[in-house]
Amino acid sequence: MSPRCAETVALLQELIKIESVNPALSPTGSGEQGVVTFLEGFCRERNLPYEVQHVVDGRSNLLTWVQGQDSNKRILFLAHMDTVPTGEWDSNPFSGEQREGRIYGRGACDDKGSLAAMLIALSTLGDRQPKATIVVAAGIDEEGPKAGARAIAQSGVSYDAAVVGEPTDLELVVAHKGSVRWQVEVEGVAAHTSKPHLGVNAITGMAKIVLALDEFNKTLALRTHPLVGSPTLTVGLIEGGIELTTVPPVCRIWIDRRLIPGEQPQEAIQEVENILERLRQSEDKIKVRSLLPAKEDPAPASAESSKIAAVAAKACADIAGTGKYVGVPYGTDASQLSLAAIPCIVLGPGSIDQAHTNSEFVEIDQLAKAVEIYQNIMLSY
Ligand SMILES: [Zn+2]
Repeated sequence: MSPRCAETVALLQELIKIESVNPALSPTGSGEQGVVTFLEGFCRERNLPYEVQHVVDGRSNLLTWVQGQDSNKRILFLAHMDTVPTGEWDSNPFSGEQREGRIYGRGACDDKGSLAAMLIALSTLGDRQPKATIVVAAGIDEEGPKAGARAIAQSGVSYDAAVVGEPTDLELVVAHKGSVRWQVEVEGVAAHTSKPHLGVNAITGMAKIVLALDEFNKTLALRTHPLVGSPTLTVGLIEGGIELTTVPPVCRIWIDRRLIPGEQPQEAIQEVENILERLRQSEDKIKVRSLLPAKEDPAPASAESSKIAAVAAKACADIAGTGKYVGVPYGTDASQLSLAAIPCIVLGPGSIDQAHTNSEFVEIDQLAKAVEIYQNIMLSY
């Protein structure tokens, strides 16, 4: 193992040992502040300037950088500090154990592997000054409502491009889906079920809406994007009724609508509104409304024609034999960065197949290659 690889492994192990479960996902989650404090020490030790950016509820991003030759050019490397909760693990999820060429633990690939690789790539630039200023950001809340990336996008600092670190197996992701999620509620009228004609059954009304949405979902398959495929609509949750002998006065569903690049969240909501309007006008006169605002994660514009994608493709090909432009169905912090029109690629060590599992790991070989790739991008952009 090269000294730089050993350094990356050691940093990753330290990061895994700091539990940083997103508090929005688990009431016992500690959040990211432990990692921020550790990284402040890391930056001081290596003489890297840094800034702690308060975001929300005492939770902060940490940004560190190396000044470039051209003060007008700036690129962002972003990886998130928060993790999902641990659930049932066979071993200690916070050990950072090294076994069979892998590092195990919660966050190993999602997303502390990317974070460690970006930080080592930045801190080992030595006297090679990049053309663009390189900012590495450790962000909060990617597994939640993405407040960290949103704060960076809205900070007033402009970026020419961004590399979002997520476990892509070192494949170069230039496009991914977005999502918009919200609830729809049908209002009925309660009555005793011995005289149901005196009431209006909200569950029956909702059943018609669910079937109409299912029909609509089939039509979405006709829209396709060459890299990410088709949009989808899933009714993922339903809740209704009070108890068995009352005609249900209310029923709610939760809609998860996946967007392809080019589709806007508000347009997707409007399409569903049009279906609801038809059912309001139907002979059933269903009393239905969308509960807004929705949770919006836009699909970033495809980065296929961006300079960052071209630079990363060369780095990936030279170092890992990857670099073909690919699309993925899951979302990332790039959704929020795209609101500031920053061209984004997603690229990092580890596989999405291990993310969120109870045997999460990252291969050391990929981790080492990620450091090379990130540093190559930093110096070539
Ligand atoms: Zn992640």
